[in-house]
Amino acid sequence: MSQKQALPGDKIAIIEEFETGTNTFDDGQSIRSLVVGTAEFDKVNRIAKITEMKKRAVAKVGDTIVGNVSALMNNMFAINMLYINGNPTHAGVECICQAKGAKKRILVRVGDIVAAKIISHLNGVIHAVINEPELGVLFSQCVKCGSKVIALGSNVKCVDCGYIEERKLSTKFGNSDFIKIGSS
Ligand SMILES: [Zn+2]
Repeated sequence: MSQKQALPGDKIAIIEEFETGTNTFDDGQSIRSLVVGTAEFDKVNRIAKITEMKKRAVAKVGDTIVGNVSALMNNMFAINMLYINGNPTHAGVECICQAKGAKKRILVRVGDIVAAKIISHLNGVIHAVINEPELGVLFSQCVKCGSKVIALGSNVKCVDCGYIEERKLSTKFGNSDFIKIGSS
């Protein structure tokens, strides 16, 4: 095998020489890359593929992240980070939000998509907050029936069964541009 770097759209081989492998497509003449990565050529089986470059997705203090709530504990919850400053991350890294007074207030539910701001790295744990207007729940669904919910003051209301529940909503709740939050 030999290797070379490739960007999305880059021509890495011609179709007379190789078949398309992982992360590639053919445009009728050439085999091109779908991702940023390293092109690899299996000359025995005549397959060209791209091994996608692993992004170093390290959320820094001050970054805005978007992710889905993966766990809800007594006074904190975990967010599986999907976007850091609007850039997708596939690292599967979680951050932790303190939810003071959450026994009385329901801030988030598992599965909600939320925006949060990173405030510190302590002992290998990334801590975040959702206590600013833009931060908080961006998308949610009814815990009773799984249907769509709409914002109703500081609550969400199910459009199907009418169930109402509290949330810490972002001012961007329901905005489909949520992935751009925090991007410059
Ligand atoms: Zn419902």
